Amino acid sequence: MRSGSRRRRQPHRRHRGHDVSEEKQGSPPIRLSSPDVGTDEVEAVLEVFRNGRIALGPKLFEFERAVADYTGCAYGVAVNSGTSALHIIVRSLGIGDGDEVITTPFSFIASANCILFERAIPRFVDIEPDTLNIDCSLIDSAITPRTKAILAVDLFGCPADWSQLRELARAHNLALIEDSCEALGARYRLSDGTWARAGSLGDAGTFAFYPNKQITTGEGGIVVTDRDDIAALCRSLRNQGRDDGTDWMQPTRLGYSYRIAELNCALGLAQMRRIDEILAARKRVASWYAELLADVAGVRAPYEPEAKETGWFVYVVRLTESPSREYVYAVRDELRARGIACANYFYPIHLLPHYREQFGFREGDFPITERVASQTLALPFYNQLSREEVARVVTSLQTAMEAV
Ligand SMILES: *Cc1c(COP(=O)(O)O)cnc(C)c1O
Repeated sequence: MRSGSRRRRQPHRRHRGHDVSEEKQGSPPIRLSSPDVGTDEVEAVLEVFRNGRIALGPKLFEFERAVADYTGCAYGVAVNSGTSALHIIVRSLGIGDGDEVITTPFSFIASANCILFERAIPRFVDIEPDTLNIDCSLIDSAITPRTKAILAVDLFGCPADWSQLRELARAHNLALIEDSCEALGARYRLSDGTWARAGSLGDAGTFAFYPNKQITTGEGGIVVTDRDDIAALCRSLRNQGRDDGTDWMQPTRLGYSYRIAELNCALGLAQMRRIDEILAARKRVASWYAELLADVAGVRAPYEPEAKETGWFVYVVRLTESPSREYVYAVRDELRARGIACANYFYPIHLLPHYREQFGFREGDFPITERVASQTLALPFYNQLSREEVARVVTSLQTAMEAV
């Protein structure tokens, strides 16, 4: 029986009913993610307070410029979340009632929800089993006269096949939306041999700045684009439909309150100044995982294709021997009992209740997505992880799998 005092010495043991070996009990817990926010960031936010302008000021434009320049895009329109960024792109493209948008069912929920916001229809296309991105070879047969756009996701920071996507979009006269929310810093080699950054590969791209992303603004997102019509509309849509230079009380069109404050932009700007250092740290942690997982049977590390450079967002492995989702959940709980945070990324979007209800989706509709989703486990991943901590995660994963 555990006494109260003994339990207090094990703050990471939130799950009861697990037997954890003695040597693990002394180790501190390892979080799933942790933003890299330092004194520069704190100072930048304090400076905004000192200057007194905490909304719609110069930091907004500086931040937009920094992200747009970094991704090689002409314009950046910063908003209060990545979801808002996706939504106003869909709207600025005139996608509406009954229009169809081709997208992936294996993603964060926002990439499909932004289509529903405008009463358009997501036409899901299954994924490639290695990159986990939309399978371009299946797109042709999903195109109908109502198809208006393709919304592809650079999943877990690995770019989708943009050469093929561009070809398809050109051939069928479709708009291309890049959900690059997970891919800041990722690069893709175009068919002409040049490298382009994620976010710049479609008509418009998006980044998100929730604290688990590559950089954070607390909450926030941005639209990046080369198209001045999309940039102008997005600027209006984030601010109640107001156009630049018109009366504040007389918006031009239906819009939203998606603005982002100066405080958040100052934080993001300070993060962008350290972007190379931040991405290098994440890449280093990913390489430790790849090295240490190489000999672990039944665990597949993320695929790193040639011609693509991953912008590391999360570290999601696949338990390839997993017979069911329940097995992964059991391994997850064992790991958590050992003080190691982890999560199951992602649940198939088409099987979520409101998608089943609205569209009648069933198990078996997108078999690769469903199989992959029943194998995935996101391991702790952030800049400050040490090699020793990564090694402890890998050892604990092995022990957890043996225990299940
Ligand atoms: C994080 C993310 C978003 C946006 O998320 P917000 O929480 O709204 O900022 C959109 N799409 C994908 C794929 C994401 O991972």
